[in-house]
Amino acid sequence: MTDYWCPSAWLPDGLVSGVRVRVENGVFTEVSAGSEPGDATRLPGVVFPGFANAHSHAFHRGLRGRTHGDGGTFWTWRTRMYDLAGRLDPDNYLLLARAVYAEMALAGITCVGEFHYVHHAPDGTRYRDPNAMGHALAQAAREAGIRLTLLDTCYLAGGIGQEISEEQRRFSDGDVHVWAERVARLAPTPDLRIGAAIHSVRAVPRAALATVAAFDGPIHVHLSEQPAENDACLTAYGRTPTQLLADAGALGPRTTAVHATHLTSHDIALLGESHTGACLCPTTEADLADGIGPARELADAGSPISLGSDQHAVVDMLLEARALEHGERLRTGQRGRFSPAELVGAMTAHASLGWPEAGRIAVGAPADLVAVRLDSPRTAGCTPEQVLLAATATDIDTVVVGGREVVRAGVHILGDVGRLLGAAMAVVEAAR
Ligand SMILES: [Zn+2]
Repeated sequence: MTDYWCPSAWLPDGLVSGVRVRVENGVFTEVSAGSEPGDATRLPGVVFPGFANAHSHAFHRGLRGRTHGDGGTFWTWRTRMYDLAGRLDPDNYLLLARAVYAEMALAGITCVGEFHYVHHAPDGTRYRDPNAMGHALAQAAREAGIRLTLLDTCYLAGGIGQEISEEQRRFSDGDVHVWAERVARLAPTPDLRIGAAIHSVRAVPRAALATVAAFDGPIHVHLSEQPAENDACLTAYGRTPTQLLADAGALGPRTTAVHATHLTSHDIALLGESHTGACLCPTTEADLADGIGPARELADAGSPISLGSDQHAVVDMLLEARALEHGERLRTGQRGRFSPAELVGAMTAHASLGWPEAGRIAVGAPADLVAVRLDSPRTAGCTPEQVLLAATATDIDTVVVGGREVVRAGVHILGDVGRLLGAAMAVVEAAR
């Protein structure tokens, strides 16, 4: 049993001063506002529920600082990404993902949704354990001390009506039923849940969509990130990607549409009315020149908003939340499109990853806490309510995941995460 005292904390109804929480067996058993610290462990600054990173491709971390300044397009970036994907194996992916997930823990992320499609050996051959790569990701998250939702991704085509390409062979199971059989062999654990993903309407043919959508768990899908996807879908099927997914029964409260950038008003209505979630990845969408999605309209239509660091140009949910609001301001010329409380909701959208009990400081919830300092060069003078619009991940002092202190005084349980990342990337770079 551990007691923590927070000078201020975001509770389900908003920001509250003097919050004492009791943690037993990894969950909150008492939460009392207006309390004195007494003998509880004092956390600094403002304490948030654990952050959920709803969209990750762990290996893209290897592209950071190497692909942002050389021009090109989304599609030329993708070529660089395929080269990196081609170097991964279960052993080096464990090293890389463990370091990336440790970086996430430092940033207050207590659960990550890994949109996982690098399934097989580079030539498409199955590993002896057909889920060797997924199991490596699960082990990586466990060792980094965060929870994982493995969104096992169906990826069957190189584009609408196109064969899979050479570098995409390792992503494909060849057939949606073979994909489903492999995914059925993945087993959840206390810190791992299994979800499914439709890579996109580019990579999953129309006839296969319903099979993936029938998966019993969270379902994610890349949706309308680029106008070219919409054009190809309209040409092939005479409807937008959103409409195609709706017709296949793939929308609904278990589904999260990732990006949702280039939507028609009818698409927004389809997503909102079905309570399909929308995961925006604002720093990635900016880096790849995708565009600014209609986040406020989606939220107003009924879509819960979540956030992801996607390609990990930065791993910082505070920056993602700020970029979400800033994108809205730039797009509309209006401030305050999302309130601080709504931004906290987007940063802590664990339900999108199949953990509806997480993401709040409340009795019965997993005991996740993120303490953001109010005395750093960035945050000195901030009000507790607005610190999320000024702080960065560097200002995070303590991170508790399911009652375990994974980060203390800004240091992760595995030690120097920069060194871990550098060492892992050197191993991946040397492969092949
Ligand atoms: Zn993605």
